[in-house]
Amino acid sequence: MSRIAYVNGQYVRHPEAAVHVEDRGFQFADGVYEVCEVRQGMIVDLSRHLNRLDRSLRELKMASPMSRAALTLVIREVLRRNRVRNGIFYLQVTRGAARRDHYFPAPDTPPTITITAKSTDPSVAAKKYANGIKVITVPENRWDRVDIKTVGLLPNVLAKQQAKEQGAQDAIFVDRDGIVMEGASSNVWIVTPEGELVTRPAEHGILKGITRTTLMDVAAKLDLKVAEREFKVEEMMAAREVFFTSATGICVPIVEIDGKPVANGHPGTVSASIRDAFFDIAEKTPI
Ligand code: PLP
Repeated sequence: MSRIAYVNGQYVRHPEAAVHVEDRGFQFADGVYEVCEVRQGMIVDLSRHLNRLDRSLRELKMASPMSRAALTLVIREVLRRNRVRNGIFYLQVTRGAARRDHYFPAPDTPPTITITAKSTDPSVAAKKYANGIKVITVPENRWDRVDIKTVGLLPNVLAKQQAKEQGAQDAIFVDRDGIVMEGASSNVWIVTPEGELVTRPAEHGILKGITRTTLMDVAAKLDLKVAEREFKVEEMMAAREVFFTSATGICVPIVEIDGKPVANGHPGTVSASIRDAFFDIAEKTPI
């Protein structure tokens, strides 16, 4: 079965799916995106993802490509055509194609919209959950609007590649005061020795992850105490558990940071219990 992508109103075979050479996403990273998990034939947290997409578009003064109802129909159709039951969809909106010029193009320039979907192998995620992952810390070097989910991800790309070259799987941005910001594609949480769940505030400086928000709901259901406050690398190194949240991984335990083990070097029980409860509590939209 060949994969199908949605590009500006058409469903096209994946190998032929393309945008214009002067698309502003390609020229300037002038675009935003969303990634959403699909599990057991259900789209996870769709409303929150589409709310964040609206916010990203608003912050960049970009037009919405279609109504929410139409977008939802197209997303479901892409998932159906790709027969995804467990996997993700990826949605990108750019300011459209126009002669290269930094100024915004004419207001009637249609935004570009593309949606792709793919199935993922649950055993790959299971292995990550069982073994945990190794990460490195890297200096924060991104712009100060990382609260907008733009496709300008070069520092994130370089951080992840550096992690790979150093034998780790991922990277955590740390600011010049030693404060933990977020992962290259996820939010960071710790469980303190007292058992408190801590994640940094998301008003600015990081992306306000949808998984992060839903995890707050999960924690409330499980009677776990959550504190939103900044924490430094030293506190993270002394934590009982450290884990990442993101739509693609939900809740991934971190067992080693910069070559040093987290606690006993094995995934913890708090992240596992949150992960187990997550799907039941998250919003589920049938394909
Ligand atoms: N932070 C960054 C930089 C990300 O790229 C992502 C997800 O891609 C997240 C956090 C987690 O966000 P979400 O839970 O919405 O996937």
